[in-house]
Amino acid sequence: MATQRIIDFLATRRPTGPCLVVDLDVVEANFNAFRRALPDSAIYYAVKANPAPEILRLLASLGSSFDCASVAEIEMAMDAGAPAARISYGNTIKKERDIARAHALGVSLFAVDCVEEAEKVARAAPGARVFCRVLTSGEGAEWPLSRKFGCVPAMAIAVLTRAEALGLRATGVSFHVGSQQCNLDAWDSAVADAAMVFDALSERGIQLSLVNMGGGFPTRYLKDVPSAAEYGRSIFDALRKHFGNRIPETIIEPGRGMVGDAGVIKAEVVLVSKKSAADENRWVFLDIGKFGGLAETMDEAIRYPIVTERDHEAKTPCVLAGPTCDSADVLYEKTPYPLPVSLTVGDEILIEGTGAYTTTYASVSFNGFEPLRAYVI
Ligand SMILES: *Cc1c(COP(=O)(O)O)cnc(C)c1O
Repeated sequence: MATQRIIDFLATRRPTGPCLVVDLDVVEANFNAFRRALPDSAIYYAVKANPAPEILRLLASLGSSFDCASVAEIEMAMDAGAPAARISYGNTIKKERDIARAHALGVSLFAVDCVEEAEKVARAAPGARVFCRVLTSGEGAEWPLSRKFGCVPAMAIAVLTRAEALGLRATGVSFHVGSQQCNLDAWDSAVADAAMVFDALSERGIQLSLVNMGGGFPTRYLKDVPSAAEYGRSIFDALRKHFGNRIPETIIEPGRGMVGDAGVIKAEVVLVSKKSAADENRWVFLDIGKFGGLAETMDEAIRYPIVTERDHEAKTPCVLAGPTCDSADVLYEKTPYPLPVSLTVGDEILIEGTGAYTTTYASVSFNGFEPLRAYVI
């Protein structure tokens, strides 16, 4: 949603578009909602969702920890004021020299999902704590994470056992139920898998202590989504059910849910046309597309709310596309987007819910278009 602060900023500063405007008050409210929803879980903000320094500084000052995917993200979190003890190197695919660099910076918590990666961590960060990521089905997620990360729970037992033998501290299990996960039950089977791994390791004399429950918390786009409180209750129920009264330490890693609804992109209509006189759909070309930051429209997975100044008028289905010379730069075509009949060249529009996964997904300079500019207010 465009907050009053965002609307006022756009009205007074009149930045030339396209650009993203992020309202820090919304980020703070989201952080507090997560803290209230899961008071016993540590919050590790997934930096990749939006690494703007102002966002990282705010979250660091509120006591957030950080899930980082690279040395560069670790350095950004530390520059924002986060001590190394509050940083997790959560990417399961790391160069050994990057592990060593993170270790030298003081980071001591690493993700692995295979013996080969655990061996790298043992060499480059001896004695570090590791958690093993397990696969989840991703079912119910609008942006599922496929089979790229994680291993089956039975393999996690072997990975953690080996990690301990290599001198690492086998600390726990992680998973990610898929991004924009609107099914409250999605955490249940993953927590069950985690509990199973805990029991198996315990039989081998290794006591795990941590369940990292990942991200997946949604942003409201066109449909309502459950509240943070509802996720909190559902996750707590899953922990109770599978761990009984021995509930482990837990971490959540919200990315989208922390910043998605805090940002709005202002864009401009560049062209409205048809492909034939009989064409039922109009084509609406914006000054932003897949290469300007809206990469999550891939396969039309994420459908952003679009606000125009003509929304009180009748609407007609439109194919929505970006300005670049790549034919892949079409946002919505399979399911055309209803936009006002009178929408015309030069109109400004707002694309809501764009605080996450936009600035960092913008190309460097494809077709000479500059990367997405951002104002954090
Ligand atoms: C991307 C990512 C997250 C954040 O996911 P969201 O769905 O945006 O909340 C959390 N943890 C890990 C390991 C990730 O890769």
